[in-house]
Amino acid sequence: MISEPLRNTNHHRSRPAFLALAALLAIFIAAPQLPADEPYARSRDYDLQHSKIALRFDLDQKKVIGEVTHSLSILRDGTAKIVFDSTGLTIQKVTVNKAAAKFETAAEKLIIPLAAGAKAGEKFEITIRYEGKPTKGMYFILPDKDYPDRPSQIWTQGESEDTHYYLPTYDYPNDRLTTETILTVPASWITVSNGKLIGVSDAGKGLKTWYWKESVPSSTYLITVVAGEFEEVKDTWRGIPVTYYAPKGRADRLAINFGRTPAMIELFSKKFGVDYAWEKYAQVMVDDFVAGGMENSSATTNTSNSLVHPKLAPEYLTGEDDLISHELGHQWFGDLVTCKDWGDVWLNEGFATFLEVVWSEAHFGKDQADYERWNNAREWFESGNLWNKPIVRHDFDDSSEFDGNAYGKGGWVLYMLRHQIGEDAFYRGIKQYLEVNRGKNVVTADLAKAIEEATHANVDQFFSQWVYGAGAPKFDLSYTYDAEKHQMMLAVKQTQKVEGRVGFFRVPVEVEITTASGPKLYNVAVSKDSQTFPLPAESAPLMVLFDKGGHVLKSAEFHKEKKEWLYQLKNAADLADRADAVVALGKMKNDEEVVAALGETLRNDKAWGVRANAADTLGKLGGASASKLLLAALDSNDKPWVRSRVVTALGNLKDDAAIAAKLNSVAKQDDSYRARAAALQALGRLKGPNVFATLDAAVAADSPDGFLRNAALRSFGPLGDDKAVPLLLQWSAAGKPIDSRTAAINSLGRLQKDNKEITKQIAAYVTEPHFRVRMAAIYALGGRGDATAIPALEALLKSDDLSIEMSPMIKGQIARLKKPADGKPGANAGSGDVGEEFAEAGGEKLTTEQRLEKLDHLLQEMNERLKSMEKRLPPPKP
Ligand SMILES: [Zn+2]
Repeated sequence: MISEPLRNTNHHRSRPAFLALAALLAIFIAAPQLPADEPYARSRDYDLQHSKIALRFDLDQKKVIGEVTHSLSILRDGTAKIVFDSTGLTIQKVTVNKAAAKFETAAEKLIIPLAAGAKAGEKFEITIRYEGKPTKGMYFILPDKDYPDRPSQIWTQGESEDTHYYLPTYDYPNDRLTTETILTVPASWITVSNGKLIGVSDAGKGLKTWYWKESVPSSTYLITVVAGEFEEVKDTWRGIPVTYYAPKGRADRLAINFGRTPAMIELFSKKFGVDYAWEKYAQVMVDDFVAGGMENSSATTNTSNSLVHPKLAPEYLTGEDDLISHELGHQWFGDLVTCKDWGDVWLNEGFATFLEVVWSEAHFGKDQADYERWNNAREWFESGNLWNKPIVRHDFDDSSEFDGNAYGKGGWVLYMLRHQIGEDAFYRGIKQYLEVNRGKNVVTADLAKAIEEATHANVDQFFSQWVYGAGAPKFDLSYTYDAEKHQMMLAVKQTQKVEGRVGFFRVPVEVEITTASGPKLYNVAVSKDSQTFPLPAESAPLMVLFDKGGHVLKSAEFHKEKKEWLYQLKNAADLADRADAVVALGKMKNDEEVVAALGETLRNDKAWGVRANAADTLGKLGGASASKLLLAALDSNDKPWVRSRVVTALGNLKDDAAIAAKLNSVAKQDDSYRARAAALQALGRLKGPNVFATLDAAVAADSPDGFLRNAALRSFGPLGDDKAVPLLLQWSAAGKPIDSRTAAINSLGRLQKDNKEITKQIAAYVTEPHFRVRMAAIYALGGRGDATAIPALEALLKSDDLSIEMSPMIKGQIARLKKPADGKPGANAGSGDVGEEFAEAGGEKLTTEQRLEKLDHLLQEMNERLKSMEKRLPPPKP
């Protein structure tokens, strides 16, 4: 799931996102009372085989009223009780094999004693009647006085272990069951759940009952219930229903954003050699979703932010395809074959991330796929906190298991494996893995074994360093050329610090040497900390590419001369090598030759990603020539995904009247909304004359989904002009569109920091029901530094409608506010739990000061993640 990685499109880098925000944030929660075996998979007393789940809803009270019948089979002789997970639910009645039964409830558990110890194989039917107001797991999004017209929606989010907040059940991935879901809802509503729709019947009193049946078993975190005022669009794939749902009034956005789904199902079915396994594929887009997307079996839930306005959608090259392909990929990897515990979650998320790129490669071409991988690698290297951790691990106390290792690095590992053993062998292994483990729970060894069985390639060493080991190679590279011997000596050093799980890497690397007589490719086997490879070269090399095309997850410092980088920028065949050249040249300041070459790349490179990176780099280098080249690029009318990057780059170049004038004109009038939004943002950063008026006019004007208004509102913060306060107060108020509110709150937090009235106003937003408004307000308060916000945040911690993910965020912001300006720690880092948890990190006792530092660091990281998540939610913020 989750907040899965960001859009790959454009400059929004892909990230392990689609994780549910919930899981992402779970890290900051004091460790829950885990059953004895966790974080390893639970030992089981019974096998839950089928659940018949009947739900009704009390909308006024946001209450679920349920009756569930579990059919289960005992696994262990002498089992004396059945224990289900259940939190916050009132259990009214339990029957065992239709006879009333005693039960007790404990923290997070429903315990049903069995009269006599049961034998292995004995079957029970247990019916539970219950009701409750779920604090998580199930969410009620309903019209209210501020948003009287919003469509009613109820939706669930099970992963990682939240299903038992609305349904007493076995809430851990290592069991699988079939389901019937029977939903009684207002007659005008639509419902979506797992499996096949068997029928809809009149239930009287203006209600209807929808009956769904899922006959392919999956884990309870993949159960989904969605109900509300939705509209449906139907499609098919090989006769199987493919359906899309939007909240009422937005059905016209379904086809343009989701229409490529059947083509993706076809591609994946063919690649894997295992056809899509479920009886239908539904995608339902819901408001206020706590994640980007969630791969519930046969029925994915996505954020309604993926319903990009039809006028904006064409401005994104890959549209929502990363989200769609990611969640679809999970239908095989995650749903059909499921990680046994969360320590192996990369078997879900790494595959889903890998498959985003597989789709890009098939549909948008190699350059697009290469660009996404190149970005993913850089992003992973930037997330330093993941460096020491292996992909497979069970120490979740210091960070969520749904991290950039499970997503970004996991996806990269699969890509490398495919490259090393070859496409055909790789997919033979994948087919074997899916066929052997279909309907089962898996650990990483199952994947390695399947690949070896199908291909006879031993991948133990590969898995050992990439999956069970940590880090990645960091290379220091140089070469000398001996003209007499016609030989090049390539010196390769691994410079990563070898400690803990990080070692020296053994990797096959392709080295391409281009001389006057053309390119030649050599394979070298890197295995030590320092090696020198003699390679033939007829004449002095014009270009040496180490890992041509970028097929190894690595960082590299290759000591080359400027002319070599310039040659590489122009002549390298693969995107990754040209993009590397852009980065290397970007470090050479005040060099007209470099600027001119980057300008040519911006104009002429065949890959948009390289053109866009050249624009970024010119913006960072600055200077008169760079401005000229960037301004000229705006006349070339490149694609919106490049054009907006050029505009953003111009926003770095201060004190140039021509730029301010150009940005002003783009902001007011351009064929690309994204370029206009980027111009509004850039103007705020440049703080030029008349910017206030331009932003003010943009706020007043209309655009699709208020796209330009929101960009302008967001720009007032960086602009720092206090005149904007009344306008920001107006647009942050309840009743305005949520996107405008979060933009306005964000900017408001940065203005008049000593104005307690503003603090008070922002603090008032933290109690609102809208997840994103709350989040924006909480972070705006934390960043504002006004300690008068602390009581409001502390009060919020006690409120009973708080979804649990939010409490660590709130605690973190309280800690920020309590930290005195002189940098010395206050009496307490917050309220207990957070600090306590970090105190154990690394197995050492930390001083209060160290704890605060760590806390601050983690919060910043989380902030970045949240920002990235927001970015990936389309339409992304410019
Ligand atoms: Zn996912």
